[in-house]
Amino acid sequence: MHDFHAPTFVLIAGLVSALMGWVLLALRRNYPPDIEGLREWGLACLACACATLIYKLETLLGRSITSISGAALMLLGFVLFYSGSARFWQQREHLRWMAAWSVVAWVAMVIFSVVWPDYRGRASALALGLAGITAAHFWVVWRHAKGLGGALVKAVTGVQCAVLVLRGISTWWVDAPDTTRFAPGLIQTIYLATFAISALMMSVSAQLVSSERVRRMLENLATHDSLTGVLVRRAWLQAAGREWARWQRNGSPMAVLMLDIDHFKRVNDQHGHAVGDAVLKHFAQEVRDLLRPFDRLARYGGEEFIVLAPDTQNEGALGMGQRICQTVADRAAQAGLPAVTVSVGAAVADAGDTSLDALVARADAALYRAKQAGRNRVVVD
Ligand code: GH3
Ligand code: MG
Ligand code: MG
Repeated sequence: MHDFHAPTFVLIAGLVSALMGWVLLALRRNYPPDIEGLREWGLACLACACATLIYKLETLLGRSITSISGAALMLLGFVLFYSGSARFWQQREHLRWMAAWSVVAWVAMVIFSVVWPDYRGRASALALGLAGITAAHFWVVWRHAKGLGGALVKAVTGVQCAVLVLRGISTWWVDAPDTTRFAPGLIQTIYLATFAISALMMSVSAQLVSSERVRRMLENLATHDSLTGVLVRRAWLQAAGREWARWQRNGSPMAVLMLDIDHFKRVNDQHGHAVGDAVLKHFAQEVRDLLRPFDRLARYGGEEFIVLAPDTQNEGALGMGQRICQTVADRAAQAGLPAVTVSVGAAVADAGDTSLDALVARADAALYRAKQAGRNRVVVD
């Protein structure tokens, strides 16, 4: 520990924070506006960097002003980090609680700086104040953060919180009332190292989680229909291809159901295209609610949908089709939308099918027969 020079370390931490804050604010412009939190994270880094600058100017500003204003900026920075995460994971922000907690910690700092100067009181008030905010931050990310970036945020906030609590309590045993801020000591070293590294780690993980979010958004855009939210045909064909391979390998049964809304042209003609769109959306939602988690629903085109039903035999496919017909006929009018019915054609993979296309073609032929037979019914090939 001989070579550890705390003020230099903190200065580097400040420079890293400033740079990272700037990077986060710049990144914000490249990301879709519905990814929130980057601004708060960026500002948090800048607030921590300003706090460092203030600590560097101690000889100029005097000890009390340095402690009081540095602490205010640190608390602000940590609240902003918390706020960024709450926004990013779309959680309710408890900013009033955070503000009240920060004010209590800050007033305690002022008391231990001006009224009753005691280093231990100041260190304890600031560390525990920051620990409280970090605990709330940790709680948000613990429940919602996922992926590599998420794991990093959890680790950073968790370690930060533990170190802050350790610092806040241990100071009463290890320090003297007149200890100076950068006095060497194991816990102080851990504390400063955590502060320096966590600014860097927080911003790195912020960048990771947001790029992961962008990737998921793009994936979702490419695989899901924008009107109904169900899969697009290409994504469905990929999923169905995997299931088809499984059926060929080990004969696990699979069914395909083609769904076509009856006389949909009339809905458009009588109520307008916008109402037609709302019917499609509602229809897709209703069908989705009826399916099992491993079934795959896609919009095959226009008002035609397709279901991939793994582990499904003839009776299963018939039952599924009947439930769909029944539910659509029963409920469409209740949603304030014109009533519609649907025809379903189903086919279960068998040895005669030479390809997935052949299976889909049989389902389509069955759908045609359902239409011919008067609509609002299921035909299983
Ligand atoms: P059938 O019972 O024989 O299926 O009759 P239909 O009127 O449903 O059949 P058809 O396939 O001739 O008409 C489909 C209509 O669906 C025509 C088209 O304007 C409408 N449509 C396709 N895509 C959309 C869409 O995204 N929104 C709306 N509102 N209408 C759509
Ligand atoms: Mg139709
Ligand atoms: Mg059609």
